[in-house]
Amino acid sequence: MSSVLNYDLHCHSTGSDGLLSPTDLVQRAAERGVDVLALTDHDNTLGLAEAAVVAREQGIAFVPGVEISTSWGGVTIHVVGLGIDASNETLTQGLAHVRGSRGRRAERIAVALAEAGIPDALAGAHAYCEDPSLISRTHFARYLVSTGYAKDVKSVFQHYLTPGKPGYVAHDWASVPDAVSWIRAAGGRAVIAHPGRYKLNPMQLGALFAEFKESGGVGIEVITGSHSPEQYDVFARHARDFDMLASRGSDFHGPGESRIDLGQLPNLPADLRPIWHEAF
Ligand code: AMP
Ligand code: MN
Ligand code: MN
Ligand code: MN
Repeated sequence: MSSVLNYDLHCHSTGSDGLLSPTDLVQRAAERGVDVLALTDHDNTLGLAEAAVVAREQGIAFVPGVEISTSWGGVTIHVVGLGIDASNETLTQGLAHVRGSRGRRAERIAVALAEAGIPDALAGAHAYCEDPSLISRTHFARYLVSTGYAKDVKSVFQHYLTPGKPGYVAHDWASVPDAVSWIRAAGGRAVIAHPGRYKLNPMQLGALFAEFKESGGVGIEVITGSHSPEQYDVFARHARDFDMLASRGSDFHGPGESRIDLGQLPNLPADLRPIWHEAF
């Protein structure tokens, strides 16, 4: 038996844009050997109570989490909070504010898609989203796949819904310092999610990490399903250079939709300081 616990500290349920209920997600994690799981739905904590109960039943440890949408110099940056108290009012009010703008943004996305010749996308996306306040680009992507505009969700994002492509609309999320302060108010640790996904040059990335640390952020995701194996090395180096804690999480959204399944990532490089040594 391996002496290294299997940590998966980033994934999604139907509490945001995942395909599985919190119950099914935790069961799948347990089946795949996860020892410690964090559920990190986008901008809300609705699934955490259910997930915690099922984790106890399945005998795995559970870390309550969230993934907050932020904007930094016009670029969308995701900030993961780990070990949060989901009942904290500063956090719940902050998240409610972020969610509040998703509906209007979805209307604008639908208008942009209609201008590109794709009608009815708002109703189409909502058919994939139980709670209108959670509507995301992923729900639009599933609709575009179902109507044959793309072969899968990944290729939707190559051709639509991203900067410069049909259906993209700019949007102002929370600020990075605000998101970090909400996470800290709720007793959690703030981690920059999948830094390799952002269109930032090395200087800009350095400025982001500096501002994040200045705000009280402590970690970066190094091993994530949203990084390529080459990016594991790049961001391990950033964790060392910026003296930040390292995190590991699949960013699993559902069977067939994610590169990496729950608990199936490589371990963190041995010399990095894992976030779980300093928290939970
Ligand atoms: P939103 O919060 O509405 O902007 O939606 C963001 C979500 O879209 C992310 O959390 C991912 O689930 C998904 N997404 C964004 N970019 C990609 C991509 N290149 N490939 C696959 N999914 C993506
Ligand atoms: Mn997502
Ligand atoms: Mn993300
Ligand atoms: Mn995610």
